[in-house]
Amino acid sequence: MHSDHTEGLTDMMQLRWHFNSGGPKVDLVCSDDSKSPLGHTLSCRKYAKHIGDALINSGEMAQRLAENKKRLPGGPADLINTMTFPKASEPTMVWSLGNVKVYAINSRHIPGHASYRVDTPAGSVVIGGDAGNDAPKPPRATSTSAQVEKLAMGADIIVHSTIHPVMGPDKDSGFPPPIYYRQSTATDLGSMASRTGAKHLMLTHLIPPMNAKRQGPFPIPGGGLTEADYKQAVTDGGFAGNTVVGTDLVSVQMP
Ligand SMILES: [Zn+2]
Repeated sequence: MHSDHTEGLTDMMQLRWHFNSGGPKVDLVCSDDSKSPLGHTLSCRKYAKHIGDALINSGEMAQRLAENKKRLPGGPADLINTMTFPKASEPTMVWSLGNVKVYAINSRHIPGHASYRVDTPAGSVVIGGDAGNDAPKPPRATSTSAQVEKLAMGADIIVHSTIHPVMGPDKDSGFPPPIYYRQSTATDLGSMASRTGAKHLMLTHLIPPMNAKRQGPFPIPGGGLTEADYKQAVTDGGFAGNTVVGTDLVSVQMP
């Protein structure tokens, strides 16, 4: 439920409601409710139910309904079909349509965090999200997730959030070590992609974003990183396939 991984759905569902209220519902496949460290509920189901609330309460929805009566009166929440799955310790099929199959596995980040794999006749894509290793800090063999590695075996493409080793506590960015350690480093992702046999590794959710001199309040040692710096980190991990360094619309990621 980290906002930088969910807020895009708000825009998507608003547009769907706006232009295609009569269309099929959107299946939202996510983990069952879980508890935050202070005991609050993390709930994908509630998130979906309230996805239009800000615009309903601002009056925008009523205005739009007056402009077009074909829109659903309950707002975009009426277009979501939420499907939750219980804790998945192994890759588990959570959705399918014909020969397209989606598998999920829960992986370490915050409670309820899950990684997904989409198998299609054209190929397979794994989306790791913010997954990290079960061991929250060194000593450990890698910063990457054993669950994601299991899910990614034989997949063509791995898409994964990443942090560059320059943010590590051995450098002087001042970035909090627990936050650094809970992400997967670009170098370790290169090693994992090599082990699973992926053809492509796409880095997203870059910490730090390319060319940024700071990650929020934290200065980047040596100045801004380039695409080549990220690719080098992946090569250092032993990956010989194709690396794509994605750009994020959000200029500073909140890990
Ligand atoms: Zn996160």
